[in-house]
Amino acid sequence: MLKKILSLITAALLCSLAHAQTPKFRVLALYTTTVESDHVDFANDAIKYFTTLAAKKGFVLDTTTNWKNVNDEYLKKYQLIIWLNDFPQNELQRAAFVKYMDNGGAWLGFHVAGYNDKYTKWPWFVDFLGSAVFYNNSWPPLPAKLIVDDPKHPIAKGIPVHFVSPINEWYGWLPSPRLNKDVKVLLTLDPANYPLGKKDILRGGDIPVVWTNTKYKMLYINMGHGDMIFTSDIQNKLFENAVMWLGEKK
Ligand code: ZN
Repeated sequence: MLKKILSLITAALLCSLAHAQTPKFRVLALYTTTVESDHVDFANDAIKYFTTLAAKKGFVLDTTTNWKNVNDEYLKKYQLIIWLNDFPQNELQRAAFVKYMDNGGAWLGFHVAGYNDKYTKWPWFVDFLGSAVFYNNSWPPLPAKLIVDDPKHPIAKGIPVHFVSPINEWYGWLPSPRLNKDVKVLLTLDPANYPLGKKDILRGGDIPVVWTNTKYKMLYINMGHGDMIFTSDIQNKLFENAVMWLGEKK
């Protein structure tokens, strides 16, 4: 019996070693520490969460605050790029990102990473995001009820169709990305939340919070404001599913 237990332990150790030596995929998370403090808090919590997840699931997570790393040479070794709280700063970085996505790279963007308006002047990105343009937001940050649109999608595995997402600032979009034929909406704000907010109020309408543009390996997640985002096991599972789906997507 003891021999059997020892051989099982050895097998488990060898397996975990193999895990450590051959990562399933490599992820680069980019963020900025000089943006709105609630967005920095989110990035710091996200790095903690995804570092633990990387060890558990056998992928590599690198992090950087240097957006100059958004260049062809540097991005080559990563299967997934995450923007935690910011986006490329100039034309060179934008062009490198477009090339990366066109060559089959994957992207996960949180919250303000998807922000765009008439001043950002990056039509490619608006198309990439599924034509969604930032329209309004809720304030102060509040929890919200969410609905899973497609319970069979890999990112919804183990997620109930209705759950409460922790305190976040929620964005509205005009047009809604759902109107784009290439977009698949995966989670939506439950209309039961309306009116959502006190100072700034989301009063109604169709507000997707997680979606993918099926022309790319990409996922946008509206959560990402403040230090409460990782306090829900259900939502954490959604983030895990998102990274594993994008990292392993062929
Ligand atoms: Zn925010």
